[in-house]
Amino acid sequence: GRPVTLSSAEVREFAESLKGQLLLRGDAGYDEARLLLNPSFDKHPALIVQPADAGDIQKAVNFARELNLLLAVKCGGHSHSGQSTCERGMQIDLKSFRGATVDATAKRVSVKGGSLLGLVDRESMAQGLVTPLGTVSHTGVGGLTLGGGFGRIARRYGMAIDNLNSMDVVTADGQLRHASSRENPDLFWGLRGGSGNFGVVTNFEFNLHPMQRQVIAGKVTFPIEKARDVLSMYADYARAAPDDLYFDPMLVLPPGGAPGVAQLDVCYSGPAKDADRALAPLRKVGTPMSDTIKAMDYVEVQRSGDWADARMLGTYIKGGFISAMPADLIAALIDGFKGDPRRTTAVFFQHCGGACGRVPEDATAFANRYAMANMMIMSGWRHGDDPTDHIEAARRHWSTVEKFTRGFYVNDMPREATAKDINANYRGNYKKLAALKTKYDPSNLFRLNANVQPLRA
Ligand code: FAD
Repeated sequence: GRPVTLSSAEVREFAESLKGQLLLRGDAGYDEARLLLNPSFDKHPALIVQPADAGDIQKAVNFARELNLLLAVKCGGHSHSGQSTCERGMQIDLKSFRGATVDATAKRVSVKGGSLLGLVDRESMAQGLVTPLGTVSHTGVGGLTLGGGFGRIARRYGMAIDNLNSMDVVTADGQLRHASSRENPDLFWGLRGGSGNFGVVTNFEFNLHPMQRQVIAGKVTFPIEKARDVLSMYADYARAAPDDLYFDPMLVLPPGGAPGVAQLDVCYSGPAKDADRALAPLRKVGTPMSDTIKAMDYVEVQRSGDWADARMLGTYIKGGFISAMPADLIAALIDGFKGDPRRTTAVFFQHCGGACGRVPEDATAFANRYAMANMMIMSGWRHGDDPTDHIEAARRHWSTVEKFTRGFYVNDMPREATAKDINANYRGNYKKLAALKTKYDPSNLFRLNANVQPLRA
């Protein structure tokens, strides 16, 4: 993008053409829009558009393309690599573009492109229906879905992308297109896992499944000394567990030198009478410090990991998919797990497999179907601290476990990922994605994402 030297007449004319808002530096709401969940990304777009409808999104895309502005698109602002804000350029902030409408008869939910997960869970469950989304309710449907989307019922119903019936998307030429298995099927394929490469999605239409409101869920917490037993149980049981069971280990050393914990986040959504059998291997780990597993409202469970004051925490995450958890990996995870009183140090997992793994690798753009789990190492620090040490600590630990991973989740893409890393990660799907990118976004207008570069003519 060029450095912005827009004339005030250009900006005024553009602002007047919008039904929604145009924010400039100094305007009320500008800082809230430009900042992401992770306060480390402290950038200042020249223009922030808060569209009121799809027409505004078309106008913003046309304006950015014609003036060659760097373009960022923000939904929930959870990007780990800071892709939804930018320096100079334009941010399209989908904050006022939210809503979820359930059609209980057709078992579909139509979700506006700026919505957060919690809204979809709440509206769907109110009708006894559900679609699989992520585990933290303030995450955006936009980013989560375009990268894949794993959550507490994904092993049962598949990833978010596996439950899409259609999308509406404003492509780089400013056209609003419908993408489904029947209309623009190539675009529909690429949008499911290809991250934000193909345009601004204005609407996601998900299929819904009937599900009971009560699930069996909670957290089982052990002292950190039990980490090896917890991980060994995961190694044995993560793949073998029934599809109805989702459980994730998390090792945490809190700041201030407080004692660490090894915790399991558990959600069992199958028939209640079978729960004890499904949970038996978890209970064999030993006597926990606490066990909160009980019958719970699914919508509440989906809020149980929300961060109350997330903006105070700078974070760095490095992650990758594992297809098994050999003893050497467990040893490396434990040996390198060194806390520091100035930060939160964590290792955590996202349970994959089940229905997610039964979709062929080339059925959608998402290519890492072999995953048993997504493994992540995190440092978290008080906003304002110098992050260098904290980031280095996570990288050091990661360098001892990386060899056990194959590919990474584009939604957890590290800041330093190169074009080569990204291309390799799309595996056999990369060629088709590059051809699609050339067709729909030849000038690479949508590049702040797990970017697929268009082929040169
Ligand atoms: P944003 O920062 O707003 O956007 C991320 C990317 O998506 C940007 O490149 C943006 O341009 C693009 N984008 C967003 N909306 C649109 C749109 N409508 N059209 C086009 N492009 C768009 N992932 C999981 O799969 N499961 C989880 O359980 C999970 N939990 C998480 C919990 C936390 C606390 C955090 C921080 C992340 C979690 N993630 C999870 C990862 C998450 O999927 C990614 O961070 C994702 O990018 C977040 O989407 P967003 O809309 O909130 O982010």
